Formats: sequence, C-alpha cells, structure tokens
Amino acid sequence: MTTAQEPVRESLPAQRHSKAELRRLALEAGRALEDADALDVMRWAADTFGHRFCVTSSMEDAVVAHLASRALPGVHVVFLDTGYHFPETIGTRDAVAAVMDVEVITVTPRQSVAEQDARQGARLHDRDPDLCCALRKVLPLEESLRGYDAWATGLRREESPLRSLTPVVGWDDRRKKVKISPIARWSQQDVDRYVAEHGVLTNPLLSDGYASIGCAPCTRRVQDGEDARAGRWSGFDKTECGLHV
Ligand code: SF4
Repeated sequence: MTTAQEPVRESLPAQRHSKAELRRLALEAGRALEDADALDVMRWAADTFGHRFCVTSSMEDAVVAHLASRALPGVHVVFLDTGYHFPETIGTRDAVAAVMDVEVITVTPRQSVAEQDARQGARLHDRDPDLCCALRKVLPLEESLRGYDAWATGLRREESPLRSLTPVVGWDDRRKKVKISPIARWSQQDVDRYVAEHGVLTNPLLSDGYASIGCAPCTRRVQDGEDARAGRWSGFDKTECGLHV
C-alpha cells in the first residue's frame, strides 16, 4: 500500500494519448462498449491505457477493484482518506491491499481534520458539507488523478436519479480524462452475485444496516424502503460529494 503520491506518479508510464485522442477514444468506446460485459470493459481499459488507468474506491466493496485487477494485475486503486472514515472502511482498505493484486494508493487532503478545524471551525461537515467535501474529497481526487489518462468508478445507474444516465465509458471534461463505470448497468443483485461468486471483500457495515458508506459524520443506516443513498448527508439537500458532477 502506498500513501505518498509523488513517488507513484513518477513511476507511471509516459502518456500515450493526447487530450484530443483521449476524448475521441472515450466517445468511440462509449458507443462500442455500452452493452459490453464489465470485465471486457476493464480489459479494453487495460489494453488502451495500461497503468495510466486507475480505479477509485470508497471501500464500500472491492467489486470494481477486483474486476480491474483481473484485467490489469497490480492496478492502482485510489482511496481518498478524508480523515472521517469509519474504522470498518479503513479495515476494508487494509484487507484489499493485503489480499488483492492491486496497489492501494491512499490519498489524504492537504489539511488534517485538526488543521481544517482550526481554519474553518469544528464540524464543517455539519455547516457546509459542500465545502468540506470540496476540501477533503474533490481537490485531493483532482490532484491524485493528474498522472492518469483514465479512471474507473463503481457508479451504478439504479443508485439515484442523478446517476441514472451514467455512461459505461464517457469523457470527464472537467478533468480531461476517460471515465469508466463498468458496472453502470448492474443492479444490486448483480453486485451481490459477483461478490458471492468471487469472494470479493465488502465493508462489514453493509451487513449492519448501511446501504451506502461514506464519511462517518455524514452517513447513517437506512430504513426499509429507503433509497440506498438516503443515509448520506441526511437532513441536507445534498446527495453527491462532487466527485461525479
Ligand atoms: S462526506 Fe461529510 S465529512 Fe466527508 S468530506 Fe464530505 S462533508 Fe466532509
């Protein structure tokens, strides 16, 4: 497992594609791979980008990391450690790093929680969660993706109305990278089936009433019948952290 970003970035292979070529690749693959098997999507990413391709994971489960490692052993798995995660999430990260053929890269914000508290006041997440997410998730992700041409996420269309149009392969115009969501078309049953078939690691909180797992102060258990993401930022008119908009 790696925590320092610069040594990893320095070891990345040279860029193969210009930004214009990346955009063209994204649009072409978006059409060609829309109905493709998730593993085939990952194989395309591995063949096209090599180790300039990474996976981001919240450590809710390791499904996408597992798919990616089958296509690209040693694939980089970027984990944003906000300083507010549940111990179970950190434990899942450590288990993934220990047993899977991946390189987990833990990315931390520029400021520790204590430094942020000193500058912004305590419990920023209770007062301005958009700013807290910007400082502790969005900015660190921007910085960590700098050396890559393509990144994969575990977004699924059924998770929320905002995610319902997620392309399997699309163009991340904000970051000028190819964005891959290989399980965009999967249902929760598909995820559960893959986990069972391959013995994939999952966060133990999923068996404790949590349906979507983020930072501890902003995540609660969901009730029967609630949307999977209803437990995120409960009480706020906020459903996304800003990584995917
Ligand atoms: S999820 Fe909550 S604690 Fe985590 S970065 Fe966003 S606002 Fe801050």
